[in-house]
Amino acid sequence: MYITEPSRRIPVCYEADLCVVGGSCTGVFAAVRAARLGLKVVIVEKQNCFGGVATAGLVNIWHSLYDVDGKNQIIAGLSHEVIERLKKTDAVRETAKRNFQLNPNNLKVELDNLIKEHKIKAYLHTYYSALACDGNRITHAIIENKDGRSAIKANFFIDATGDGDLARDLRLPSYVGKSIQPPTSCFFMLGDMTGINLGDLVEKHGEEFGVDNDWGWSTEVPGLDNITLRADTHVYNVLCSRADDLTHAEMEGRRQADAIVRMLNKYSGRKFALVNTCSHIGIRETVHYKTRYMANERALLTGKRYESAVLNGTYRVDIHHSHDNGITFKYLDGTTATHYGKNEKIIIGSWRDEHNYYGESTKYYQLPFENLIQEQCVNFIAVGRMIHADEGAFGALRVMINLNQLGEAAGVASWLSLHRNRPIQEIDGVEVRSLLKQGGSAL
Ligand SMILES: Cc1cc2nc3c(=O)[nH]c(=O)nc-3n(C[C@H](O)[C@H](O)[C@H](O)COP(=O)(O)OP(=O)(O)OC[C@H]3O[C@@H](n4cnc5c(N)ncnc54)[C@H](O)[C@@H]3O)c2cc1C
Repeated sequence: MYITEPSRRIPVCYEADLCVVGGSCTGVFAAVRAARLGLKVVIVEKQNCFGGVATAGLVNIWHSLYDVDGKNQIIAGLSHEVIERLKKTDAVRETAKRNFQLNPNNLKVELDNLIKEHKIKAYLHTYYSALACDGNRITHAIIENKDGRSAIKANFFIDATGDGDLARDLRLPSYVGKSIQPPTSCFFMLGDMTGINLGDLVEKHGEEFGVDNDWGWSTEVPGLDNITLRADTHVYNVLCSRADDLTHAEMEGRRQADAIVRMLNKYSGRKFALVNTCSHIGIRETVHYKTRYMANERALLTGKRYESAVLNGTYRVDIHHSHDNGITFKYLDGTTATHYGKNEKIIIGSWRDEHNYYGESTKYYQLPFENLIQEQCVNFIAVGRMIHADEGAFGALRVMINLNQLGEAAGVASWLSLHRNRPIQEIDGVEVRSLLKQGGSAL
């Protein structure tokens, strides 16, 4: 059943060169890079803070800035800058593997600071809901917030919504993978887990609390003694770009978090408390949008190089199974490891036969600019986990240290497109790379 919405006039609330929709670090970094090149920028975010999964989702690990040997820095730019800023308030800690544990609360503040310092107009608690287009050009993004419905006029649009809400409304070619990585509700828990084997407890008492024995992880949070960030469970069989599935996933994920804490309190002999549940479930994957270059696992694992590279990375292929309690990692050194359950039954293998590759292991991989270029709309880039990638490449590229770099590339490319007055499809990736480098990226 349908109704026809009466047509109405809505105010244009802001005019800018660039409108970024979605305020995770992907979106914020796109906005900041464009602002540094002189664009007037506006950013729209539906939650109360910037940072996306890293803040509202509580996920507090950024992976290494170095190659696999841990010697040469291959990632810099805004990820590096933000880490340096967080160091000043002891809100970040480098681990032995050179990853970074962040305090999501401090990250929120630093992202606010970045937005303010660059004079970017920000709308929080504001939902993007529709587009206005003129032929193959977007003219306005329509938003909803406490002021009602209004439109932002801009010359270029970046979709950093994760799900690709603008790409959906442009009807760009899309696909949903055969198996979708399931979401997780992360939470902060107070209490000392030293010596407690969560896997054993789940095996014995999981059924009583409705907790599956699926693979999970936890980590410390800088500045919060005796509190851990926990990602212990998954919500299976949901596609979180659908309203009903997302609602179910939020409630089921929160139930799982609470169940873990109640189980620990009943059977561990110690006292635990649920300190904070995420204000948005951590979504790993929904829909993908097609671009000129599909990222593929083989090219990443074998370290293919590109003149138009806009990303360097080392994060392994990491696939949370949609169909069982396992997770598969494929490392740059050739190893494959599949872990099952909390007590980690591990099956080790090699991906080399699968890819018929027996050459030297690469120290890092790259992704070309063409991965950001859709063919239909002249003033638009979608960037984030909606990335055009096969299952394995998505598993590696989806982490923040990678998407942060793609956000920066999108911001620089939007400036180039406007500066040259050329469609985004005609922008040279080699030039984008060079501008990224001039702006502090390690490419
Ligand atoms: C549980 C979990 C653990 C993970 N662990 C790690 C890890 O340890 N390290 C790591 O680097 N990566 C990790 N990842 C992956 C990584 O966090 C995500 O892939 C990445 O953050 C996705 O970034 P994004 O910018 O595409 O999307 P998001 O971070 O989801 O950002 C999208 C933003 O757009 C906003 N938005 C969406 N729709 C609208 C709209 N219509 N209007 C306005 N705003 C909108 C959202 O509120 C959000 O802020 C994990 C992911 C999950 C789910």
